[in-house]
Amino acid sequence: MKKGTKKLALVLAAVMLTGILAGCGQSGADSQSSQAVSAENASSAESTQGGTIKFGTNPEFPPFEFVAAEGVIGTFDGIDMAIAKKIAEENGMEAEMESMEFDSLLVALQNGQIDAVIAGMTITEDRAKSVNFSTPYYTATQVMIVKEDSDIASAADMAGKKICVVQGYTGETCVNKMGYSYEAFKKGTEAVMELTNGKCDVVVIDSATAAKYVADNEGLKIVEDPDAFENEEYAIAVAKGNDELLEKINSAIEKMLEDGTISELAVQYLDAE
Ligand code: GLN
Repeated sequence: MKKGTKKLALVLAAVMLTGILAGCGQSGADSQSSQAVSAENASSAESTQGGTIKFGTNPEFPPFEFVAAEGVIGTFDGIDMAIAKKIAEENGMEAEMESMEFDSLLVALQNGQIDAVIAGMTITEDRAKSVNFSTPYYTATQVMIVKEDSDIASAADMAGKKICVVQGYTGETCVNKMGYSYEAFKKGTEAVMELTNGKCDVVVIDSATAAKYVADNEGLKIVEDPDAFENEEYAIAVAKGNDELLEKINSAIEKMLEDGTISELAVQYLDAE
């Protein structure tokens, strides 16, 4: 299977930032229902004078964040984790990572439990009401994962099908806006398992994560529909008013976009099996 080539194309397309704000990404799903889980995992990086940036993430979103035996920050690995570490280093600081449910991240930020959220988080108008977003660092879109023999070829073909999404993700917002009923799962892996078990027909999820799931599971393919799913931009969220940290994050991101670090990380993590 020449999946590597396709993944690479997807990633290269994704890193060409377009500056377009998500159309179907206007999330209304920032619920406060979920509980933060698991303890923080301090980086064992070199000592620094500049203090610590305490990031929050939800490590259920490969290739951006996932748990590994040896990650870049403790057991946390992925594109976002490498970016977080570099942002801290760039500012003479240390990165800490706290794991919690996706839905809890913005609440934790507003409560001051964490300083920043890095979680493949799409900028949406709704979220931007409660937090500030950094310079975007990655462009994605929603795609449909289906079985290889599926007759679903566009978003309109989802009519009457069993649709699975992940709770609180922009994919849920999109499907909701399209007026389809769906089932929401806590994790992308659960939604994909439902698909591989034949209990659902299509999973709507972010493009790079979809590529990872398709590479890891036999018999699945990605269906794109750019007319139905607009571009979404991932950015880091900080609390409103924390302009000092936002500037530090932005200058590091801009440097990494310019020198190709982020593109390299995207290719590296998408091609890793
Ligand atoms: N980009 C999607 C969103 O912001 C999913 C992010 C994630 O699961 N980490 O909702």
